[in-house]
Amino acid sequence: MTNAEILIVGAGHNGLVTAAYLAQAGKKVLVLEQRATAGGQLAGATLASGATVPGLHPAGQLRPVIVKELDLARHGLTMSAADAAYVSALPDGGSLRLVSSANDVATIEAIRRLSPRDAGCWPEFVGFMNRAAAFLDAAYSTTMPRLPKIELRWDGLPLASLALKLRRMGGKDMFRVMRSLSMSAVEFTEEWFESEPINAAIAGVAIHGVTLGSMSAGTGFTLIHNWLNRGGLAHRTTTGGPQGLTDALVKAVLTNGGEIRTGAGVAQILVEHQRVLGVRLESGEELKASTVVSSADPRRTLLGLVGAPELPPEFVWQTQSIRMRGSVAKLFVQTDGRHRLPEGTVAIAPTLKYLERAYDSTKYGEMSQDPYLEVTTSGADVMVHVQFATYALRNADWGSMRPELEKRAIDTLALHFPAFKGSVQSVQSITPVDLEQTWGLTEGDLNHGQLILDQIFFMRPLPGWSNHRTPIDGLYLCGSGLHGGGGISGTPGRNAARALLRG
Ligand SMILES: Cc1cc2nc3c(=O)[nH]c(=O)nc-3n(C[C@H](O)[C@H](O)[C@H](O)COP(=O)(O)OP(=O)(O)OC[C@H]3O[C@@H](n4cnc5c(N)ncnc54)[C@H](O)[C@@H]3O)c2cc1C
Repeated sequence: MTNAEILIVGAGHNGLVTAAYLAQAGKKVLVLEQRATAGGQLAGATLASGATVPGLHPAGQLRPVIVKELDLARHGLTMSAADAAYVSALPDGGSLRLVSSANDVATIEAIRRLSPRDAGCWPEFVGFMNRAAAFLDAAYSTTMPRLPKIELRWDGLPLASLALKLRRMGGKDMFRVMRSLSMSAVEFTEEWFESEPINAAIAGVAIHGVTLGSMSAGTGFTLIHNWLNRGGLAHRTTTGGPQGLTDALVKAVLTNGGEIRTGAGVAQILVEHQRVLGVRLESGEELKASTVVSSADPRRTLLGLVGAPELPPEFVWQTQSIRMRGSVAKLFVQTDGRHRLPEGTVAIAPTLKYLERAYDSTKYGEMSQDPYLEVTTSGADVMVHVQFATYALRNADWGSMRPELEKRAIDTLALHFPAFKGSVQSVQSITPVDLEQTWGLTEGDLNHGQLILDQIFFMRPLPGWSNHRTPIDGLYLCGSGLHGGGGISGTPGRNAARALLRG
């Protein structure tokens, strides 16, 4: 039994953000999470193999406006103000340490050793990236209209205000931002810098989390997207890490009178005559409510939980066409502490071609022979993000490829940091199939839908449906597959709550 007016499917950070806003506005909300803990991808898990792993993230931060509006500081969340270091391994065995600040003397000196010209460009580059990210942030918090329909009051004015923001950037920045979105990371970085290691270091961030190579169109956009979510090239931390972020959001939901039930997987979203009636849990229990908001990915929600027979045929076809192509794997390595890896975010992205070749493997349904890696450490613990580990292996399966994934990642990292290999004591790995089975991500896609040019802004999750609504009255979407996602930001969750509250 529940007296909730609004049921929210999934307690990932976006589901929790939506719940906290709605509860703050006086709505009775109940969040239903299939797993034993809240947090979604921010939370650790026990895998099908029985192995336990911590949360998938070294760090993550919500948009400051959300921290303020939900008063998350009162619930224990503080952001790190420090500029973190981003360390890229160089082909000659050295490394390049970058701090994403325009005037960091050590960074400019490190770049100068590679190219005096590039050292001169760095402050302008950082300034541009911050302005471009601020514009993207403004675009993400503008609810997109259901084009071609524009409701002047709700859609027209925010869009006009966004256009004005772009115009106010000035002619040079305005055109640069617009061009950058469709450029490849190679084209984008080469317009700024002549030194290959600098370009490759930056391009590593552009392809992080997406199934795209450094030469793919649209990786100019993903670079700005990731820069926005991270606040630069490196990950920045919050107090208590990702778990601290989840804890603060859970407290915000509960103190505003909302409820959260874990171990409550939704098996079916109940619909009659294209109107939502509530949900049926995997336990068979039915909960009635006039509004359901899902933070599960759009394909899972619409085709899995609602079901094709309840939806218009063309909408079903469009939903089936959402591209979800996970290719991220992760290693959690326990070492004896003598790994000698630098602090900060460490990237194995030595050249632009290296990154493109790593991506090429996905075209053939293979795992990269020499993968792009991003590594973070916490004392003796080493977390290794691996790309590309394509979800859809052609002549193998992830059950048998796990040892090979671990071997390739460890060998690749050891090539650049030789002390690492001897320090390894135990390894746990997560494949794209684990992401699907344990975290509920269709095809292991951590962004709930690829961040590609035809799946962003008013086309996310589907053209004409970016306003968080669906063809089912009372059913809304609020997860990373919506405008403003993916990644950790809370923006889709906030946008969904605003769309729902304005009616
Ligand atoms: C290895 C890795 C690296 C990443 N790196 C970065 C990065 O550097 N920067 C960045 O910003 N982002 C990164 N991401 C992406 C980021 O973690 C996600 O985009 C974000 O956490 C998604 O949040 P969400 O709340 O939208 O969805 P999720 O966290 O996926 O939450 C959805 C929730 O819904 C629940 N659910 C699904 N189906 C049901 C059901 N039927 N019933 C009940 N509950 C259900 C799930 O269990 C889950 O808890 C990374 C992700 C991974 C895996």
